[in-house]
Amino acid sequence: MKTAIITGITGQDGAYLAKLLLEKNYCVVGIIRSYNNSNLSKLQYLQIADKIKLEECDLTDIPSIINLLKKYQPHELYNLAAQSSVGLSFEQPIGTITFNSISVLNLLESIKIVDKDIRFYQASSSEMYGKVTRLPITEETPMHPLSPYAISKATAYWSVVNYRESYGLYAGSGVLFNHESYLRTDNFFVKKVIKNSLAIKQGKLHELNVGNIDIKRDFGYAPEYVKAMWLILQQPHPEDYIICSGASVSLREIILYVFNKLGISADKIISDPKLFRPTDIKDIYGDNSKAKKQLGWSYDLSFFDVLDILIEEEKKNIVA
Ligand code: NAP
Repeated sequence: MKTAIITGITGQDGAYLAKLLLEKNYCVVGIIRSYNNSNLSKLQYLQIADKIKLEECDLTDIPSIINLLKKYQPHELYNLAAQSSVGLSFEQPIGTITFNSISVLNLLESIKIVDKDIRFYQASSSEMYGKVTRLPITEETPMHPLSPYAISKATAYWSVVNYRESYGLYAGSGVLFNHESYLRTDNFFVKKVIKNSLAIKQGKLHELNVGNIDIKRDFGYAPEYVKAMWLILQQPHPEDYIICSGASVSLREIILYVFNKLGISADKIISDPKLFRPTDIKDIYGDNSKAKKQLGWSYDLSFFDVLDILIEEEKKNIVA
């Protein structure tokens, strides 16, 4: 039986990845910040909380990581822990950049010290590319990060490349574009639109406050994207892969689709200057052909198909 460690196990991707690895018969060790304060609701929702060995570990502290690796001798380590909100990173730039980059360096250094055969997956982000001049984004596109979050992810990405090239570690990134699910936290756009639209429908909310909704993003479905994470660590050689749907959709189109489905009038959309960001990427979509060809990863959902799934799941779980 293989052992995998997942950091960020309490997050959206951590929960879906843990479910996938359990289905593949892995022993899954999940890293949490603290036993007392960790929110296990996503693991409980997927009914896997009691199947995972939870371990408290401070990822800013190398000795704790080294002890953990020695204790479990994992085959694979999936690093998903991060301050993951672009918006919040403008309010907490130092905390975001410090944690998101130092934790990765600590993990790589610990693997180098304890066992170079541990395979390492880094959750990289399309946000790293930022101000692009040419679309679609491929693995070769130059980076021009536009937020503290993007800077932190670019730093982590290059640390992974450096440990792979300098020390021969089996370390690779999945560069994931936005991916959504019922388990997304409420501060993310798509989740917020669906939850608040249902609240408008129920008469609990009057309007939907939004920032710049004329930007376009490449959105996908999280349970399908975590399959690519696993595939990335099963290859003969470590490499980086873009994981995306291949098409972008505007935030306005998403709102109008959800409103239309729920029978809500478009005049409920209220522009809120507080929700605009200092810098924003206008349009971004990727090319997933390397992942499809080399990993054998398949993905053919349009984001409107995903929205149908998300609306139905949200409705099922709605509190009356
Ligand atoms: P998420 O739901 O926000 O989960 C983030 C996880 O990181 C949580 O388990 C959280 O733990 C943990 N974490 C945050 N700050 C931490 C800290 N200072 N110390 C220890 N743990 C900390 O994010 P996600 O959507 O699952 O994304 C997983 C990873 O993929 C992240 O690295 C994210 O940046 C990256 N990514 C996500 C997307 C996307 O669209 N979802 C796209 C590209 C890349 P707590 O529960 O204790 O807060």
